[in-house]
Amino acid sequence: MTSNTEWFERAKRVIPGGVNSPVRAFNAVGGDPLYVVSGAGARIRTSDGEELLDFCGSWGPLILGHSHPEVIAAIQEAAAAGTSFGINTPREVEFAELLCELAGIEKVRLVNSGTEATMTAVRLARGATGRSKIIKFAGCYHGHSDGLLVAAGSGLMTGGVTSSSGVSPAVAAEVFVPPFNDLEAVNAIVAAHGDELAAIILEPIAANMGLVMPEEGFLEGLRTAADRCGAVFIFDEVITGFRLGPTTYARQCGISPDLVCLGKIIGGGLPIGAVGGRATVMDHLAPLGEVYQAGTLSGNPVAVAAGLATLKRLQSEPPYGRMATMAKRLASETNALAAAAGVALNVAVSGSLFTPFFSDRPVGNYNDAKQCDTARHAAFFHAMLRAGIYLPPSQFEVGFVSAAHMEADIDQFIAAAKVALEEIV
Ligand SMILES: *Cc1c(COP(=O)(O)O)cnc(C)c1O
Repeated sequence: MTSNTEWFERAKRVIPGGVNSPVRAFNAVGGDPLYVVSGAGARIRTSDGEELLDFCGSWGPLILGHSHPEVIAAIQEAAAAGTSFGINTPREVEFAELLCELAGIEKVRLVNSGTEATMTAVRLARGATGRSKIIKFAGCYHGHSDGLLVAAGSGLMTGGVTSSSGVSPAVAAEVFVPPFNDLEAVNAIVAAHGDELAAIILEPIAANMGLVMPEEGFLEGLRTAADRCGAVFIFDEVITGFRLGPTTYARQCGISPDLVCLGKIIGGGLPIGAVGGRATVMDHLAPLGEVYQAGTLSGNPVAVAAGLATLKRLQSEPPYGRMATMAKRLASETNALAAAAGVALNVAVSGSLFTPFFSDRPVGNYNDAKQCDTARHAAFFHAMLRAGIYLPPSQFEVGFVSAAHMEADIDQFIAAAKVALEEIV
């Protein structure tokens, strides 16, 4: 059998960095990355023949666990009937109807990834308002399109700087990047530049700087600010959509963005994304409107079948309460073990999302997250991996409990964490 290390060596010869998405390279934690040959339920098997208990779940899509029988059956049935037509299919209509009903949106357009969903949402906002500037928040991730790979610049009012080489500075200059949870900063930008703002976009629960919850009043305040200046208010729910209940977080928290971006869970492990919201905004999309957006594989029948099967299962047998109970116990018992071992750790948790922040303070924005002890996080990650637990390989990510996890799996996590925390003191 070819080992992880051998696959990595071969991969590096033909794939830049040996990976098709950078975080898989383990740069944040060190060591050689994994190559996986199969997954079932809460477990994956690597090419070293090791079985790992998986708390990454393909970065969120696999809320039902790996190879869920109903999802696999739907994929097989759809694939046998043809994998792509470039013509409309009945099932994509059913899927769009279900998304609209469950997410409480009027119209939805299917795309192929979360990146496409947010890129389209921002273009739609610009097209609908005839303005070009946007607000995004430091530490929020919205995929890898040019206009959203932007970090905070030298001052709040100066616009952002590119967070990737190859992005035009002119694009970044159109983006204001205030800190998450800082309503005052947003209001200052709106006061000075409100009539130039096309959109305010954010993850309503930030899950790409580790898990950071919105403070009381933050989302309401943003809704008010967007209304005041006429900007389109966009929730990027690529992670939170269907993660905390069989709907969007917007619906759960009672705040109505104008557009919502979805991905990950709604594809059941296949590539999909969606942007949806108010018809008055959505109808700016071609062919009705003047904002162009298209895709050869958009609404792909196999991806739609996987998504439909996943959403139907989440409705018929909602796993949310059970997942939240398990995640809460994972967090509280790990926190207690860390306190006993004398390790500065606080595990943030919301529903089935969690992040072990190696810090003695709660994390409320990206600056706080950057203060964490990333070396200790890396040591913890590897100690957990040695004990058969796979966590996201970076401090700035969230872990996921899935419906396939059992209480015994949480016991296994906690037993592993006890050993790991004692090792890394
Ligand atoms: C993953 C993610 C994206 C990008 O989705 P891809 O399918 O990876 O392109 C966008 N926004 C958020 C909040 C995400 O977590």
